[in-house]
Amino acid sequence: MSLYTKYRPKDFDNLVDQNFIKKTLSTAILENKTVWSYIFFWPRWTGKTSTARIFAKWVNCKNPKNWNPCLECNICKSFSEWKLLDIIEIDAASNTWVDNIRDIIEKAQFSPNVAKYKIYIIDEVHMLSNGAFNALLKILEEPPSHLKFILATTEIHKVPETILSRCQRFDFKNISNIWIKKYLEYIAWEEKIKVEEKVYNYIVKNSAWGLRTAISLFEQLIINSEIKYENVIENLWIVWDEKLEEFLEKLLKKDNLIINDFNNLIDEWKNIKLFFKDLIFFTKDKLEISILKGKININLIKILDNLQEYYSKTKNSIDENLIFFIWISKLLVEKSALSPESSLPCGEKGATKIKEEKEKKTEKKVEKENIEIEDAFDIFWDNLEEDNNLEKKEILEKKINSNNNNPSFSIDILISKIKTVPKKAFLSIWLKSSTYKIEENIFYIIPQNKFTWAKINVAENIVLIQEKLKEMWFEYEVKIK
Ligand SMILES: [Zn+2]
Repeated sequence: MSLYTKYRPKDFDNLVDQNFIKKTLSTAILENKTVWSYIFFWPRWTGKTSTARIFAKWVNCKNPKNWNPCLECNICKSFSEWKLLDIIEIDAASNTWVDNIRDIIEKAQFSPNVAKYKIYIIDEVHMLSNGAFNALLKILEEPPSHLKFILATTEIHKVPETILSRCQRFDFKNISNIWIKKYLEYIAWEEKIKVEEKVYNYIVKNSAWGLRTAISLFEQLIINSEIKYENVIENLWIVWDEKLEEFLEKLLKKDNLIINDFNNLIDEWKNIKLFFKDLIFFTKDKLEISILKGKININLIKILDNLQEYYSKTKNSIDENLIFFIWISKLLVEKSALSPESSLPCGEKGATKIKEEKEKKTEKKVEKENIEIEDAFDIFWDNLEEDNNLEKKEILEKKINSNNNNPSFSIDILISKIKTVPKKAFLSIWLKSSTYKIEENIFYIIPQNKFTWAKINVAENIVLIQEKLKEMWFEYEVKIK
């Protein structure tokens, strides 16, 4: 028996992380207020089918205990052995059902054999044919008292409104990572499997909120009643954090030897894209930490911005290694790009510190998720030191302006001015990475790439830049090239 079959929740006590649904359904059963038709909605593997089965068992159970089916009476037992004809499970996504699904639904009108209720669990209900939907609707309009339907779907927008309006709807949420980890720990304990602590995080990270995926991965990784970190790295194609750290540091320092590392990567890794995908998320995490500290590392933004752009280029390329090679080479030669003195903590101490902060941060992540990143930037810009030199520069700049139209100097002031406008912190960063040109009375901004081009080229931004230029005594029309 697979671990998932063994450990899939069989009663509400073991149903993972769907408290609201558990409570509502339990109360309805206890107070005898169940309805005849439910619809469960949310992504795969969030416990929809388990909940449906527990519910079906419980309403039919001869002596339910402690808010759960007893798992011992003849109903519970014959259901677990797949012998109970009164609980009918249909997978609408499977082709084998297509022909007879309508007949089966039409037979719902007949009384149950042994159980109190005849219960239909229809998974992926949105895949039903029109004929089947009509048969279902007909029954839902006047359901016999012995009948209950539990419809489940991952795509609720495809379920006809006429059906939805006759169902009580439950939206399942993604199972949180903390719960998945707890459940894996429980299985490890039950099965006496020795698991290295940091393994859990990697499994959880790769399971996309799915308990089933997590348990399957967990099972695959067991070797002689043990799961070792090194096996995980091998099997899940996970890049060591240490390697990413080292690579990123070299990028920040513009260390030419990074080309050797890159070549080694190509030799070691069959899939170089996977490495750079991990690097994107690793860099994002670092950037997030630098934001939270109030010391935004612009170089990380630059790396992240460029890397994701180059990453998407690999789609249409005959050689993806070449794309990344070009990216690295460009970073190495770029003059204005990366300075060696980055605010990124380096070495072992730095790495531990980052890990600690990362853990702290994960706890807070859920609450923080809804805050727009731009807002976060604003807050931290506010905390940044005021630019004391601003005034001095302005005076100096006015002097220059009287006899010279050199925009390369004034651009710093323009950027400082924009930086102080609420919600325009990003704009100032994009401007910083752009180049400029003045022809006649037109001030051309030449963004670094398509992404920043699209971000800067918004009417509101152009007006703002024009205004700020005016404040600086420049009467230019602003155009984005
Ligand atoms: Zn029972």
